[in-house]
Amino acid sequence: MDFDMLGLAPRLIAALAEQGITEPTPIQSQAIPHAMNGRDVMGLAQTGSGKTAAFGLPMIDALIKDGGRPVPKGAKALVLAPTRELAKQISDNLTAYTQGTHLKVALVVGGAGITGQIRRMERGVSLLVATPGRLIDLLDRRAVTLSETRFLVLDEADQMLDMGFIHALRRIAPLLPADKQTMLFSATMPKQMEELAAAFLREPVRVQVNPPGQAVAKISQSVHFVAQKAKVDLLIELLDAHRDERALVFGRTKHGMEKLSKLLESKGFAVASIHGNKSQGQRDRAIRDFKEGKVRVLVATDVAARGLDIPEVRHVYNYELPNVAENYVHRIGRTARAGADGAAIAFCSPEEMGELKDIQKAMKADIPVASGRPWEVIGAPKKRSGGGGGQGRRFGGGGGKGAANAGGRPAAGGGRRRAPGKGRAHQAA
Ligand code: AMP
Repeated sequence: MDFDMLGLAPRLIAALAEQGITEPTPIQSQAIPHAMNGRDVMGLAQTGSGKTAAFGLPMIDALIKDGGRPVPKGAKALVLAPTRELAKQISDNLTAYTQGTHLKVALVVGGAGITGQIRRMERGVSLLVATPGRLIDLLDRRAVTLSETRFLVLDEADQMLDMGFIHALRRIAPLLPADKQTMLFSATMPKQMEELAAAFLREPVRVQVNPPGQAVAKISQSVHFVAQKAKVDLLIELLDAHRDERALVFGRTKHGMEKLSKLLESKGFAVASIHGNKSQGQRDRAIRDFKEGKVRVLVATDVAARGLDIPEVRHVYNYELPNVAENYVHRIGRTARAGADGAAIAFCSPEEMGELKDIQKAMKADIPVASGRPWEVIGAPKKRSGGGGGQGRRFGGGGGKGAANAGGRPAAGGGRRRAPGKGRAHQAA
């Protein structure tokens, strides 16, 4: 199957070929024929699967064939994405795919000057990529109209739900004509997604590349059971062992990740960090430097990193486990791109046994143990998010799963295996 057979316009196929895009990815060959038939699509696919082209190409194809001008302030197609970075990336991709056509792409996101965005919208555009908040801002200022918008894409819909954009979506969607085509893409399918789909899609075709909640096969996953305080040393040790390769390190808080990034820097690593306290310019620069290889270790929080197109990341470290299990799937989806193998390495402290359990439940599989043994938590595990409380859950005891200390790595020094001062957690013998 190639793009020819999918029936795309020759001009579009030529533009794709110039970028080395000649063979459709699985999500593209599944979604494009239905989308070109005008069907609503619900796609389960992660960043790196080629999903942007999966929803972008059918729209671009239709807009090339349509040929008409957009109305002033209007957009013929609207793509909504949860974060600025993701929106920018989608807009960059769509701009590349529309090279040599008459189509215009615009990007409307927070953190950038609004006046330029208003001006860019004055004569209307073919494809508008936006984050919901800024779009509403422009709609309120009557700088954008969606009355002629025939295509709507909700990208990373699960993340939009997480970030509370449902209200924004409910405001935006009715402004589009009833007769439109809607495509929803999501990396995970939480229950709420069914409601979202029921509200926004009409008899959608469902396409997916990975079964829900399951990671890409080529990623080798492992978990180190390590106390919070000992994580830094272990991370440095592992990063040191792969000096020439890029690594992504995920943590939970802006403050913690900034501290970690400074510490790694002091140890001689070329590091950048992206989190909510960084300006748009700083985030863009960090991604650029990481892509170019000037920065080798990128430290990130989930929200800041969601949807980013970071090529060839062989190592993703879950320095701290996410408290939303689906974010684990998102995080490790950043590795094993483009056919390369990848490693997703999780660090689990005693306080994180609850999160680990949730992740393994979501993955429907246990993560092989690389070092240490599962912590046994007596009494209620301290869920970092929930402020304690509750009694009687007991974890651990499953010591024998996977090979403890696989790969011959020494158990990272005895002292670091116990949470200092906690007293309630120890590792199952
Ligand atoms: P996405 O999952 O949409 O973020 O795409 C990930 C990357 O794969 C982007 O840099 C795309 O330009 C690239 N890509 C998309 N489709 C193809 C394809 N059929 N062949 C090769 N590369 C592709």
